[in-house]
Amino acid sequence: MNPLDTTARHALQQQLETMKQQVLDELRASTPSAQAALAGADHEVKTHADEAESERATEVQMAEADVDRARLDEIEHALARLASGRYGLCEDCGGEIPRARLLAQPTAVRCTACQATAEARARH
Ligand SMILES: [Zn+2]
Repeated sequence: MNPLDTTARHALQQQLETMKQQVLDELRASTPSAQAALAGADHEVKTHADEAESERATEVQMAEADVDRARLDEIEHALARLASGRYGLCEDCGGEIPRARLLAQPTAVRCTACQATAEARARH
């Protein structure tokens, strides 16, 4: 039995689509071409310190883009599960993911117990 009724699924799908749009906007804002356009507007001669500073900034932006891409994967994954009817079922044990958990975290793919196990595994 799927614990989610059609209304809840629709609401979650919409929430996921909104999240996806936000992540895509963030990624678009941090694409290399956008960065190049910003850099091109700045014709001042850069000092060594400025260069180091901008390199650090680029690293931070790249790290943020990685986080955004990982989130996008999670969202796409959740949407695919929603489409296939497997949404709301734990990926590891097949049990139902509590509705409250899904509403709080629409990209959750595991029940609370399996998520804790998976996170413990990831730490080792
Ligand atoms: Zn589970």
